[in-house]
Amino acid sequence: MIHIIGAGLAGLSAAVALTQAGHLVTLYESGPAAGGRCRSYFDRELNARIDNGNHLLLSGNRAALAYLATTGAAHTLIGPATPLFPFFDLTTGEAWTVAPNAGRIPWWVFSKSRSVPGARLSEFAALLRLKFTRGDQTVVETLAGAGTLYRRLLEPLAIAALNTMPEVALARLLGAVVDETLAQGGAACRPLVPREGLSESFVDPALAWLAARGATLHTNRRVAALRQDAGRVQELLTTDGPAPVAAGDSVVLAAPPWVAGTLLPGLTAPEAFESIVNIHFRAEAPPGPAGFVGLVGGLAEWVFVKPGIVSTTTSAANRVVDQPAEALATQAWAEIARALSLPGPMPPWRVVKEKRATFAATADQERRRPGPATALANLVLAGDWTRTGLPATIEGAIRSGETAARVLLDSSKTR
Ligand SMILES: Cc1cc2nc3c(=O)[nH]c(=O)nc-3n(C[C@H](O)[C@H](O)[C@H](O)COP(=O)(O)OP(=O)(O)OC[C@H]3O[C@@H](n4cnc5c(N)ncnc54)[C@H](O)[C@@H]3O)c2cc1C
Repeated sequence: MIHIIGAGLAGLSAAVALTQAGHLVTLYESGPAAGGRCRSYFDRELNARIDNGNHLLLSGNRAALAYLATTGAAHTLIGPATPLFPFFDLTTGEAWTVAPNAGRIPWWVFSKSRSVPGARLSEFAALLRLKFTRGDQTVVETLAGAGTLYRRLLEPLAIAALNTMPEVALARLLGAVVDETLAQGGAACRPLVPREGLSESFVDPALAWLAARGATLHTNRRVAALRQDAGRVQELLTTDGPAPVAAGDSVVLAAPPWVAGTLLPGLTAPEAFESIVNIHFRAEAPPGPAGFVGLVGGLAEWVFVKPGIVSTTTSAANRVVDQPAEALATQAWAEIARALSLPGPMPPWRVVKEKRATFAATADQERRRPGPATALANLVLAGDWTRTGLPATIEGAIRSGETAARVLLDSSKTR
C-alpha cells in the first residue's frame, strides 16, 4: 500500500503512476475536495462554477498531456488549432496576435502579421541568451536589450510562467519552459484550457480512474504528524485517528512546502511565495480566436472568456494583493471593457486572492527545492516546489508526482 498525503496534481499524478505499476494507493486530503491549487468550485456570489484561477497549458507540456490521456481526459482541453496569442496594449490601444509557425525554424519572427509590432529582429537574440543562461542570472539581466519584444511578449510570458517579477526571477527556470515550448516550434506552443473547468479536466477523471482501480481518497483528513522509527515512517497521525504504515508500505508527501516542513522538521524547502489574483465577472464576451487575450500595461495581464464568465489573471501579485477587492475589480473591469469593447456597468464579480499561489522563482528559493528522496527509507516528496527543473506549474507538479513514484518503484526493486 502507498499512502499519499495531499491530493493536488502532484499527489494525483503519483497515485496514477503507482496504480499503473500495480500498487494500491490511499490518498489523504485535508480539504473537502481534491485538486489543491488547481480546482473548480461553485461560487454563490456569481451563481456559477468557477476555477480558483485561470490555468493555461501549452501543447509542449508533455507530462500533463500524458496524464490526461491516461485518465481519459485528453479531450477535455480546448484551444485554437494553431498557436495564437492575441494581445492588446492598454497604453496605446494597439492589438496584435503572436502566431509562431508550427516547425522548429522560427520564420514567424520575420512575418509582420505573426510577430510583435515594433519588435526589431535583433531583439530575438534575447531568446538565445535565455537558452545559455547559467547560475543566478535574473530574467531582466538575461533579456536586457530586448526592448519592445520584451515589453510586449517576453515580460508577460515570463511573469505568467514564473509568477515572479522578472527583476528577481531566475532566468534558468524561464529557459527550461522556453526550451520545451517555444524552442520546439509552434507545434509545442498551442495554448490549451479546460473546456469546462480545472476539476473536470485534471481532478475528476483522475479520481474516477483511480477509484475504478481500487484506490481510496479520504477528504477532510489532514495528516498532522508522521510517527517515525528506525528510519521509516511507521504511522500517519490524521485528524481521523492514526493510519498505520505497515512494513512494505511507503508514503508520498505531496503537501505544500509549508506543510511538508511541519511534518518533516529540518526539511529545507521554499519559504517565500508569490500571490496570483484572479477576478471573475458574470459576463458574456466574444471569446476571440484563442479564448483569451494578453493585456499589456494594466493590472489584468490575461483575460479569459468562457460562456457566462470573463476573468482576469494578475501574477506575481504580492505588489497588489492587499488592495481592497472592489478597487481591484473596478480597475480590471475598466481594462476588460476597453480591450474587449464591452459596454455597460461592472457586472457581478468575485476576486480570488491565492496568497501562496507558488513559491517565488528566485535563485534563493531554487536552492531550497529538495529532490524526491528523504532520509526516511519509505518516504518520498512530490509537489511543484520540489526540484523539478521547472517553475511551479501543472507540468512541474505532474512530473514531480511521477518522479516520486519512480523513486519508490526503483527502491522497491532494490530492497
Ligand atoms: C491562481 C493560480 C493560477 C495558476 N495558473 C497556472 C497556469 O496557468 N499554468 C500552470 O501550469 N500552473 C498554474 N498554476 C500552478 C499550479 O496550479 C500548481 O503548480 C499545481 O496545482 C500545484 O500542485 P501540487 O500538487 O504541487 O500542490 P497543491 O495543489 O498545493 O496540492 C497539495 C494538496 O495537499 C493538501 N494538503 C495540505 N496539507 C495537507 C495535510 N496536512 N494533509 C493532507 N493533505 C494536505 C492540500 O489541500 C492540496 O490539495 C497556478 C496556480 C494558482 C494558485
